[in-house]
Amino acid sequence: MLDLPMENVIVIGSGCAGLTAAIYAARAKLTPLVLEGRQPGGQLSTTTLVENFPGFPEGIEGPQLIMNMHEQAEKFGARFSYAEVTEFDPQNSHIRVKADDEWLETKALIIASGASARWLGLDYEEKLVGHGLTSCATCDGAFYKNVPVCVIGGGDSAAEESLFLTRFASKVYLIHRRDKLRASKIMADRVLAHPKIEPIWNTVVKKYVTDDKGEMRAVLLRDIKTNAERELEVACVFVAIGHDPNTKPYKGKLDADADGYLIAKNVVESKHPGVFIAGDVADRVFKQAVTAAGAGCAAAMEAEKYLSHLDSKN
Ligand code: NAP
Repeated sequence: MLDLPMENVIVIGSGCAGLTAAIYAARAKLTPLVLEGRQPGGQLSTTTLVENFPGFPEGIEGPQLIMNMHEQAEKFGARFSYAEVTEFDPQNSHIRVKADDEWLETKALIIASGASARWLGLDYEEKLVGHGLTSCATCDGAFYKNVPVCVIGGGDSAAEESLFLTRFASKVYLIHRRDKLRASKIMADRVLAHPKIEPIWNTVVKKYVTDDKGEMRAVLLRDIKTNAERELEVACVFVAIGHDPNTKPYKGKLDADADGYLIAKNVVESKHPGVFIAGDVADRVFKQAVTAAGAGCAAAMEAEKYLSHLDSKN
């Protein structure tokens, strides 16, 4: 093992929560190290216009908001690495994390590893990603010009993806397993009023149908009320059915609920001293950029308090 210096604060994740934690920790002169992982920027980096982040009356593009936060954290002394954390080993006096096969040691840790897109769990799903199956309209929507596509889900993500895709696709089918959208009213109203979007209610996808080159050609739909099945021709399927928290390294080591969301007490505290939790990795309720930022701020302030107690003991 390399003889690496003991870090003050390591922040895992560079979405809204992680970057806000990094800004606060950096301004407290703790020179945090942010381990961004392979998909830096979190969910905001794959979204479009964010209209509800305070301070931007005209809205701001998600990737721009993330770039601004990154720049702000860097300006105050945060350091960044794309290393991916695979192991977590809390000790009595400090915390060890393994990132890209290297063990790092830190006095305080902020886990802001966010959540990843959920998939339907159908056959060949993994192989179809990139061949007409995706969870990111902003990444892949522009590849599907003047062809029909479908979005699966009924929440704000599905609504947002559907609206974005109307810029390119000839038609956007919104396939939802119920007959009412879960999305916020403002988003749902926009979706339902859009001439290019056709909702298909009470329906689930039973199977992906590919052409002879292995590219998506259609989906086999099942009406859950009548059990009737039919094929719907689409060039791409956009899955937007929510997210699962990224908690693999912490399994069995930190408290989590039945769905894997980490459990924080007093907003951001884990059961292990010096380990704090922020953002979607622990939020199954709000999941907003602004609540993630708030938790990131709280985590950094608690980490700072923890470190000053630690210093006063030594
Ligand atoms: P979500 O609110 O949990 O919605 C997931 C949707 O997918 C629900 O409609 C759900 O159906 C459906 N679903 C879940 N599992 C399914 C399955 N196996 N098969 C078929 N359908 C399935 O997730 P989200 O839309 O990603 O939003 C997450 C959070 O982020 C929310 O708090 C949302 O407000 C927020 N968000 C906000 C914005 C914005 O403000 N611009 C944008 C995106 C997300 P049911 O309705 O039947 O449960």
